[in-house]
Amino acid sequence: MHSVSPVIDAIETKKFGGGLSEEIIRSVVEGYTAGEVPDYQMSSLLMAIFIQGMDYAETLALTRAMAESGKTYSFPECVDKHSTGGVGDKVSLTALPIVAACGAPVAKLSGRGLGTTGGTIDKLESIPGFSFDHSEERFAQQVEEVGLAIIEAGDLAPADKEIYALRDTTGTVDSLPLISSSIVSKKVATGAGYLLYDVKRGSGAFMKTTKDARRLAELLVRLSEDLEVKASALITAMDNPLGNAVGNALEVRESVSLLKNEPVPDDLTDEVNHVATRLLELKGIPEAATAVEKALTSGAAYEKLRQFVMAQGGDAEALEDLPVSTKVAEVRTPRDGYVARFAASGIGSAALALGAGRAKKGDEIDPGSGIEVLVRAGDHIQQDQPIARLYGEREAERAGRLVLEALELSDEPVERPPAILDSL
Ligand code: URA
Repeated sequence: MHSVSPVIDAIETKKFGGGLSEEIIRSVVEGYTAGEVPDYQMSSLLMAIFIQGMDYAETLALTRAMAESGKTYSFPECVDKHSTGGVGDKVSLTALPIVAACGAPVAKLSGRGLGTTGGTIDKLESIPGFSFDHSEERFAQQVEEVGLAIIEAGDLAPADKEIYALRDTTGTVDSLPLISSSIVSKKVATGAGYLLYDVKRGSGAFMKTTKDARRLAELLVRLSEDLEVKASALITAMDNPLGNAVGNALEVRESVSLLKNEPVPDDLTDEVNHVATRLLELKGIPEAATAVEKALTSGAAYEKLRQFVMAQGGDAEALEDLPVSTKVAEVRTPRDGYVARFAASGIGSAALALGAGRAKKGDEIDPGSGIEVLVRAGDHIQQDQPIARLYGEREAERAGRLVLEALELSDEPVERPPAILDSL
């Protein structure tokens, strides 16, 4: 084949299902990040990859090239977790202060939300004063002094940022090798030595079946281990929202309740305890489950959240009563029945309509908006019973319709589904 440029070589090879060498992958990634490879060629290559796939060696090479495309940090003693995204997912806000209180330092990279899944950065920004503009030195100092620090991607793995934005507009997001290399490259660039992946499965997640979620989980763990990060994964349910609160300030409020050891829904406590315990085990901390329990009952986990919030410029006192929208409406059920499902995808869309998320990149969110679900899968409910509280002024009527559509009722008793589906 006549070679014109690495990217054309790569497109010609991949469109017929051929394998790409590490050298050609690196050259294309570097060229695209430097602005030398145009979007139209990169999109063509991404679509060829989407259709033909990539084998493990190619996926590893792509992950490594993206991880090394900008600055890299190194926090070999630290733990981090990554969730593939869900509705009401506040596990980072809760499990990380717990593990930090148990002596496992956390250096975390977080993102903003897009679509129906929220981002930890947006959630924390609902706390007055909270900021992510730490320099590398200040980030490292906070890891050392507080044991918990979170940053936004910034100059870490810039190739992923560019490529992900292109994938988002060219129908090439939902490809296993592209998703896994994107996730792992950012984590490897952040440099935590221990990583737990929480792969969500269900209507409100990327992966709709446990089998697909397991394939993604296996790939995430294998790539991480080959890039010197000790990793494991959980596969967790995302058919229903996690906990009661969906929306930024509302989720921080629910997280505060959990960390103060006040009652919150079981699915949330189960998952948070599981994630925190697994992270401590990964790091080799003995009697992990007991340590998690102690951090909650002693108040140490909540105190760690307060220290972390203050270190990032936030008002820790405001955590006691975080402002939420004063425009509140209740949605009631039209009939009796057992709740079979309160579909996460529908609740996520309703929260988006209220202003809790972004339909497209750059949209402004309303931090005080969102939904409190008042009933859970397995509950028996009676006609006219309130099922959800809507917070926020934008498109409240449409949000109410979406919430009603999300409620699936059964005439037969329904067992409450488990939160944790599988692990590796
Ligand atoms: N999250 C990411 O970071 N990258 C993907 O490709 C998909 C989800």
